[in-house]
Amino acid sequence: MGSEPDPSSDFTDSAAPAVELDGVIKRYGDTAAVDDVSLRVREGEFFTLVGPSGCGKTTTLRLIAGFEEPTAGAIRFSGESVAGVPPEDRDVGVVFQNYALFPHMTVGENVGYGLNFAEPPEGMSRGERIAELLDLVDLPDAADRDPESLSGGQQQRIAMARALAPGPDLLLLDEPMSALDAQLRERLRVQVRRIQSELGITTVYVTHDQEEALAISDRVAVMRDGTPEQVAPPRTVYREPATRFVAEFVGDNNAFAGRVGDVEEGAAEGGAGGGESDDAPRIAGVDVGGETLRVAVDEPTDVAPGDRLTFCVRPEYLRIDEGESRVRATVASAEFLGETTRVTLDWGGRDLVVRTRDPLSGEVVVGFDPADAHVISVDGA
Ligand code: ATP
Repeated sequence: MGSEPDPSSDFTDSAAPAVELDGVIKRYGDTAAVDDVSLRVREGEFFTLVGPSGCGKTTTLRLIAGFEEPTAGAIRFSGESVAGVPPEDRDVGVVFQNYALFPHMTVGENVGYGLNFAEPPEGMSRGERIAELLDLVDLPDAADRDPESLSGGQQQRIAMARALAPGPDLLLLDEPMSALDAQLRERLRVQVRRIQSELGITTVYVTHDQEEALAISDRVAVMRDGTPEQVAPPRTVYREPATRFVAEFVGDNNAFAGRVGDVEEGAAEGGAGGGESDDAPRIAGVDVGGETLRVAVDEPTDVAPGDRLTFCVRPEYLRIDEGESRVRATVASAEFLGETTRVTLDWGGRDLVVRTRDPLSGEVVVGFDPADAHVISVDGA
């Protein structure tokens, strides 16, 4: 695993987390916008809340910022409860989707606005601090400019500089890139990550864009209906989704469910993904749509004939005319993406997504190796 952080949601570090949510609930009338959220964000971590619209990301961020108080549960910063502490006393910098720079002020004055409520850090003058922040966001010569003369991405960097000016302990970013076009977002997310790393500032980021979440974060919480379904580093969320929802929300995926027919103790060949371990896993034959698909089941998961097994195979591991488990499917649609083509196949009424470099049409045989299937759950018969 190298230096990758603990992939589980468990928090085993001895230091108090920079931000901790403990059983937090926020209700509006009968709606639980946030429904029993427990999260721990490490000092210096870039932590992202990702999920579909309405899953409670913004409400969670607003609770951390202090714009809302929880209906139940506790929020702690470095071990101290922040119950009743107003936003301006929480040492947080917040950047919203609509960067809302003050149009009647110059860029420099906008950044300086953040210093009206707090002294510049480390005994710096106001002017020095503004210059330092403009350097940090890579707009060193923008101080005298009118904010409206800047591009959307530049304005958002100024909004970030304004939020960072007082030297907050925590940076909260709510969909800061959603108003920008795709190319600009990709560039800006690299810059945001660089700024965050340079400062080492603990950051909680909200986005509905799973690709952005994977690209930018140390860890992500994939939320659904007010609750995180998985909290883990991007690689783990992608390769080992904990639930079917996570498997399908994060990137393309092919999820299958069926009854286990037989279980074979034996050697799985390392699949296209390289296989997960040297220990030979058991191979379950799973009946899906009348076909037996063979799936490696790693220890310690129990599996027995008759169990219902749910698993997924990423499109990059579904290969044409290859793989141990093969099915016959028909090309339904294709999207040319440049490097690859994303092809949707119809397999007996089920959609299968594959990525290929070669054009496909008509009927094809598609397959995967047992080790390239990821088991999501096994429910006893
Ligand atoms: P989006 O990506 O669309 O912004 P989100 O994941 O950030 O969504 P929230 O804005 O946190 O979701 O909303 C979660 C749920 O709580 C939604 O059903 C929303 O309608 C509801 N909600 C949020 N704020 C309020 C409020 N002030 N009053 C009533 N309901 C609210």
